[in-house]
Amino acid sequence: MVMSRSRIYPLFTEEQLRVRIKEMGEQLTKDYAGHNPVVIGLLNGVFPFFADLTRAMDLDMDISFMRVSSYGGGTDSTGEVKIIHDLDKSIRGRHALIVEDIVDTGLTLHKVRNLLLDREPLSLKIVSLLDKPSRRRVEVPVDYIGYSIEDHFVVGFGLDLDGKYRNLPYVGIYNPA
Ligand code: 5GP
Repeated sequence: MVMSRSRIYPLFTEEQLRVRIKEMGEQLTKDYAGHNPVVIGLLNGVFPFFADLTRAMDLDMDISFMRVSSYGGGTDSTGEVKIIHDLDKSIRGRHALIVEDIVDTGLTLHKVRNLLLDREPLSLKIVSLLDKPSRRRVEVPVDYIGYSIEDHFVVGFGLDLDGKYRNLPYVGIYNPA
């Protein structure tokens, strides 16, 4: 497949993302006041969102990362989810918050959520920058959503196509045609 930035159509600008993520951080600051949560980033795609969101949360928190693989390099899900890197902190008896870049079929979060619930956190909520509800194959509660989008394959702001475009400062629709 030939990859080119000219195939990317901007969906959310850098400025729009900045404003929306600040709002999300303010909401989470209110909702988690006094709770000292463990904030869990799902690598790799979450890194820009995670950095901006956690800095917009005016709270004491612990930060930990988990890496799972779910996509085999194309634009469709394989349905396979493998834990590649686990948390370095216990969440037992803690308020835990999973931060994800995008929820598509829901398979990744469904699996990660069940795995983390087995560790008996006091609460477990999910925040995602983007949500594609029309693609859902399993139900998963997404408590905080930046933007709901149509069924497009998007890149940028952490989201990749075969490892590329994660560093774009905006989110764009990738059109392979
Ligand atoms: P799910 O398990 O919900 O189908 O997929 C979750 C993961 O698939 C995301 O964390 C992301 O890595 C990848 N993914 C889903 N939709 C997209 C998309 O539109 N663009 C990119 N780049 N990755 C996606």
